[in-house]
Amino acid sequence: MAGEGATWTPIEAEAQRAAKVLHPDSLKLPRPAQRRILTVANQKGGVGKTTSTVNLAAALALHGLKTLVIDLDPQGNASTALAIEHRSGTPSVYEVLIGEISIADAAAVSEQSENLYCVPATIDLAGAEIELVSMVARESRLKEALSSEALDALGIDYVFIDCPPSLGLLTVNALVAAKEVLIPIQCEYYALEGLGQLLRNIDLVKAHLNPALDVSTILLTMYDGRTKLADQVTSEVRGHFGDTCLQTVIPRSVKVSEAPGYGQTVLAYDPGSRGAMSYLDAAREIADRGTEMEHA
Ligand code: ATP
Ligand code: MG
Repeated sequence: MAGEGATWTPIEAEAQRAAKVLHPDSLKLPRPAQRRILTVANQKGGVGKTTSTVNLAAALALHGLKTLVIDLDPQGNASTALAIEHRSGTPSVYEVLIGEISIADAAAVSEQSENLYCVPATIDLAGAEIELVSMVARESRLKEALSSEALDALGIDYVFIDCPPSLGLLTVNALVAAKEVLIPIQCEYYALEGLGQLLRNIDLVKAHLNPALDVSTILLTMYDGRTKLADQVTSEVRGHFGDTCLQTVIPRSVKVSEAPGYGQTVLAYDPGSRGAMSYLDAAREIADRGTEMEHA
């Protein structure tokens, strides 16, 4: 979508896009100044949290950055999308949260890339929201597990935590464990509804549990260029969040929604598609920002 396409014919542009994905080594993304941990949160359901988590993570991994996805949603959608085993009993984020195993014990390598790890969620996580209530340091169990030593041992550059559509203890654990929040916003009616509640929760966590927390990234998803509404939502969100909002907007695309059914990210399923390219562009923007965060 960037200005680079101006002098290209549509076919050339398409070929260029495919080349970028098929030969990722030609376009390495910069390593962040320091490891980045991003929580992907929005208590609204179906806005593209999981889709953005797995595709951004895959894009960074395909471009040489060691990336870890934590599936923190009992639905296990991120695990499914990355084709990671997550039957009940599989070592998962649940056992990590209750302190039975380490991140390294639970992390599996994805077939999408040798740089892409995933700690899956099994249905066992469904009870965790309640079990955690009576546990010591219940809000910071994920943070403890994601220690620098544990992540150094795996050589991780990026961690993405995929949250469930709620503001319960699992999401709080994710907000305590991360420095950054990435909020996907669907270009739809009511897009901003409920966002105030999310931002207030983030402020509460910041005030009491994690002063370093910051909403670093807003990603507009499921943009449908045929509707006036999508443009209205886009400008409203940009007006609100300014540069926090990525320039890249993820289009609504059938390929993006089909990919998880094949246990693939859209980057593997259809590398030349607009959906794949837009996630790649978004990942590049995120990675470029990561090089400027030295002061953090
Ligand atoms: P939940 O709140 O249930 O965890 P979510 O916020 O993680 O949902 P996703 O599961 O990523 O949202 O997306 C919701 C649905 O929209 C899925 O069926 C997904 O395949 C589809 N979807 C996501 N992004 C796109 C897109 N860019 N184009 C078309 N469909 C999309
Ligand atoms: Mg999800």
